[in-house]
Amino acid sequence: MVLDGAKTAAGANKMVIRNIGLLLSGDLRQPILDADTVVAVDGLITAVGRQRDVDVAGAATTIDAKGTTLAPGLIDSHVHPVAGDWTPRQNQLGWIDSYLHGGVTTMVSAGEVHTPGRPRDVQGVKAMAVFAQRIFTAFRPGGVRVHGGAPVIEHGMVEEDFQELATAGVTILGEVGLGSVKDGKTARQMVAWARNYGIQSTIHTGGPSIPGSSLIDKDMVLETDADIIGHINGGHTALPGDQIVALCEKSTRALEIVHNGNEKAALLALRTAKELKQLDRLILGTDSPAGSGVQPLGILRMISMLAALGEIPAEVALCFATGNTAKIRKLEGGLVTAGRAATFVLMDRAQHSASKNLLESIQLGDLPGIGMVVVDGLVSVQRSRNTPPATTIPEIVPT
Ligand SMILES: [Zn+2]
Repeated sequence: MVLDGAKTAAGANKMVIRNIGLLLSGDLRQPILDADTVVAVDGLITAVGRQRDVDVAGAATTIDAKGTTLAPGLIDSHVHPVAGDWTPRQNQLGWIDSYLHGGVTTMVSAGEVHTPGRPRDVQGVKAMAVFAQRIFTAFRPGGVRVHGGAPVIEHGMVEEDFQELATAGVTILGEVGLGSVKDGKTARQMVAWARNYGIQSTIHTGGPSIPGSSLIDKDMVLETDADIIGHINGGHTALPGDQIVALCEKSTRALEIVHNGNEKAALLALRTAKELKQLDRLILGTDSPAGSGVQPLGILRMISMLAALGEIPAEVALCFATGNTAKIRKLEGGLVTAGRAATFVLMDRAQHSASKNLLESIQLGDLPGIGMVVVDGLVSVQRSRNTPPATTIPEIVPT
């Protein structure tokens, strides 16, 4: 079912999701909530608690979770969209809708860099950013919210350009380093200008991704001081281990780990952040579409890999792709708490997993099965077409 995203938040609709077996908040400080019911009105969460304690009357939609797990919709912090639900990188249609079936309800652009013939002149860069911000605000495949319009800095940009972009609605920069600016001094100046106008920045870290991009080492990352250390595990080629550790230790900025990076380096970054007691800095992305394709289950695979091999509790790993990202990127979803977007993924252990329950299955390295995705208080997906089948799936209760 494909929803017209522009309409998803409209109307005085009440949704009740009850009989939740395990409620994952997305919040590192308390990842598991003692609650079995969520109530939402007009696309926003109004109550989270035990069914006997919350007002479940008058719901337009009631979902029986059947004892399965509810978590916030997943956030992919690093995508490279182009136009609508098409990616020219692998010439695929419908990739965003396919990610929705992997539990991803929000995506953040790290630059629309795969746009054929992408402009490199300042006027063209600004025009494309505004265009992308507009089209992805108006078009939500399956309900997925794509935060698009992420210009890549080029030589010749001046402070007024960032002011103009911010006034036009641009809130994020694409990866520093994918344009002509390759030196820390210029990048630092432009990132600071962007920050003055509320535009968040991210930087490419590591070796070149594809022909035409280039190496960015720890010295340039530290000098640039972007808000997010993009793919600290490389995209794909990672920096040497001592540089990754130095970035974790010497910077206080967000640490982004991506699917299309080096997995050994991902585990090093995770372990370093854990030793520093700074797991709240970790966020996850796919860095896709890319040379290695599109990964509808990429965020789930990262959660599972980090939990299983990084020896992090599954409910904590899930926070990296939900609450952490929402807080760092100031997004509307990502946490199951009153006032946040009623955007959820309902999961269960996959059929025939060797585990006894959902958390244990992730801990073992299995992928969960998705039984339902809710976006802004509306059911957007029932049984996922992409994950392994969930053992138990939620049901919409007939009214
Ligand atoms: Zn990159």
